[in-house]
Amino acid sequence: MPEGHSVHRIARQFDRNIVGRVVAASSPQGRFAEGAEVIDGREALEARAVAKQMFVRFDGDVWLRVHLGMYGAWDFSGDVSVDATIASSNGRMGQTNQRGTVVDEAIMDAAGENSLSSIGAPRRSRVRMSEQTTGLEEQSEWPPPPVGAVRLRLLTETTCADLRGPTACVLQTPDEVQATIDKLGPDPLVDDLTEGEERFTATVKKKPTPIGLLLMDQSVVSGIGNVYRAEILFRARQNPHTPGRDVPEEVVREMWRDWARLLPIGVETGQMMTMDDLDPAAYRRAMARRADRHWVYHREGLPCRVCGTAIVMEEAAGRKLYWCPSCQA
Ligand SMILES: [Zn+2]
Repeated sequence: MPEGHSVHRIARQFDRNIVGRVVAASSPQGRFAEGAEVIDGREALEARAVAKQMFVRFDGDVWLRVHLGMYGAWDFSGDVSVDATIASSNGRMGQTNQRGTVVDEAIMDAAGENSLSSIGAPRRSRVRMSEQTTGLEEQSEWPPPPVGAVRLRLLTETTCADLRGPTACVLQTPDEVQATIDKLGPDPLVDDLTEGEERFTATVKKKPTPIGLLLMDQSVVSGIGNVYRAEILFRARQNPHTPGRDVPEEVVREMWRDWARLLPIGVETGQMMTMDDLDPAAYRRAMARRADRHWVYHREGLPCRVCGTAIVMEEAAGRKLYWCPSCQA
């Protein structure tokens, strides 16, 4: 499932390529035909990411709300310019790792996790990326013929953005947008960090629910999914089963601050990089391979990087939870 960093990356690409332009909107698949008709011919005025949702405002106060859910993704084609804070796909913009070292080339993940042409659910986007690569070599047609079930296509003179497989793709009024946002927990890239910390801490300290579930609850905190959940808990050496109200307040606050550190790194690099203090060689390895950039996520049965205990995996509310039973005892 795309986590918060992906949605913030999509909103930035929208800012660069769609906002400020009149779009031709269509629903090649047909399921959003009426909505597309409303948007068609309007200028996109703003793109906003909150939690795992994106809100795009069009003139006339028409808002589009998109939630990618488990399988959704946006594919960009044509001329796609990229935010200066995000490394370019040909790699000359530079990125800063956690030590502040400037790495002068973007290190692209072998599995395409930090692709700029397709952002969303990784497994499906890989398939589409290969389709797209073939397409680009042979394709002279503009706009490109839609591939698969495209729910919504937004087309400017030079850029094409195709949405496939979202959980939600609806039009909303400004009041409805506000009501949706009001139900979401604080997002470190949207909310004031201090206020966000207070809100998050107050909510967690009231709840009997295990902290491992609270971190994934979008009404408690925005944007954390399965990978960040496991990693933040490990970094805090926190047992995932402890009820929220029993987690020491300092640890709760530290987890919020940690999320506020990790999220911008994810937006910048396109990767859920959750390890600190890597030397340059280890940093390159970690950027290129998921197996080298996490403390516990997806490491079931492997020795903990800190204490050597085998990492365990268990089901928690239908999602896999990874943790170290001795570091996080
Ligand atoms: Zn351990």
